[in-house]
Amino acid sequence: VSLRSAIVTVGEELLSGATVDSNAAWLGRALSHLGIPVRQRFTVGDRDDRIEAAVLEALELAELVVVTGGLGPTEDDRTRPAVARALGRPLDRDPALVEALEARFRGRGHATLPPANLRQADVPRGGHALPNPRGTAPGLWIPAEGGRVVVLLPGVPREMRALFDAVEHRVREQFAERLEPVHSQTLHTTGIPESVLAPRIEEALGGLETRRGVEVAYLPELTGVDLRLSVAERDGAGAEALAEALRLVEPVIRPYRFEAPETGDLVEAVARQLGERGLRLATAESCTGGGVSARLTARPGASAWFLGGVVAYDNAVKTEVLGVDPMVLERHGAVSEPVACQMAEGVLRQTGADCAISITGIAGPGGAVEGKPVGTVWWAVAFRELGTDVAQTGVRVRAASAVFPGDREAVRIRAGQAALRDLHLQLQERA
Ligand code: ATP
Ligand code: MG
Repeated sequence: VSLRSAIVTVGEELLSGATVDSNAAWLGRALSHLGIPVRQRFTVGDRDDRIEAAVLEALELAELVVVTGGLGPTEDDRTRPAVARALGRPLDRDPALVEALEARFRGRGHATLPPANLRQADVPRGGHALPNPRGTAPGLWIPAEGGRVVVLLPGVPREMRALFDAVEHRVREQFAERLEPVHSQTLHTTGIPESVLAPRIEEALGGLETRRGVEVAYLPELTGVDLRLSVAERDGAGAEALAEALRLVEPVIRPYRFEAPETGDLVEAVARQLGERGLRLATAESCTGGGVSARLTARPGASAWFLGGVVAYDNAVKTEVLGVDPMVLERHGAVSEPVACQMAEGVLRQTGADCAISITGIAGPGGAVEGKPVGTVWWAVAFRELGTDVAQTGVRVRAASAVFPGDREAVRIRAGQAALRDLHLQLQERA
């Protein structure tokens, strides 16, 4: 039988909702990737009896139990003693850990180690410390009965993640012969809803899921749907089954797919296209208020391909800064095809960019007019025709529209993504 894991996250703030339990989600992905899927999650407050009960129950279900949080130096950090009790082990103070803590404090200019921090050198008997490169609380690896293991990690997400490499290494050693390698690939799509995508994928796979053990997961976000295909290794045929699945789904997702291995964000794909061709982009945003520019500039190195943008919220900015024709605004309204086109063309001319996108829409909740419900958005993509001088004509613009569902935030995110998607497609067509 395959290996199973369980996760215990500790902290009152997780129960009250003051902190979102991002550790559990991150660990869930990391553990299934390792081939040790999570069987159950437990979330408990900073109380010995609750932590102890959760760890005992988790050990009933899983070979690997990962606990995060409550390893700090203060009185309300209860994980170490509670886990020691659950395992029936005493806590031993590890002199090497005491020394490492002292060195860390001296290195930061403190004369002595605060006594409370000594607690962080306590290890349930039989356990080993996993050094923490980013904080004081080391992780702990504690072998338990029946080949099981309990792993304790700090609650601070970046420390927890930094320690996971060491955990992964030990897990591969400890469970080597029982780990089934998982072959998997994540495909990013945008512009097709999950409800439309899923049946097309099932049809394309034609029963491959049951025949060859291919698992399909849909991970929908406002910006698109990620598709994760995975196959547990069986008789050496896992990689080939995954390749077959990829071949089958490829034609379905081709018009929606983008490549963003680092971030999963469409901006990564657009940045690559622009960078490779030496093209520079500008933006003219109304209802998204600069949100697209913020996404673009979040990417390191954006200055190589992003020139800048105009937040043209008021009509006066659309006309005076971007050169939108007031008559056109009057006749068609700000949320219209010709205004979207003139915004994109205007910012392209103003900045001298090679390409531009514009967005104008009704994000809601107010603002709907006859024939234009909340969620109506027009966007446009403009390209300077190659070899033409931007001061002359030589600009080609195409606009599109949609009525996006959701609240103000959702409409704004979807609108920005739609404009980026069209830019991505047109850059592909022009390649
Ligand atoms: P410290 O040494 O900082 O006290 P710790 O191991 O005791 O580390 P906690 O005190 O439980 O960890 O949490 C430290 C920080 O990490 C807090 O800001 C907390 O909100 C956050 N945190 C804890 N657990 C999680 C979790 N499961 N998901 C996301 N954030 C978390
Ligand atoms: Mg805590």
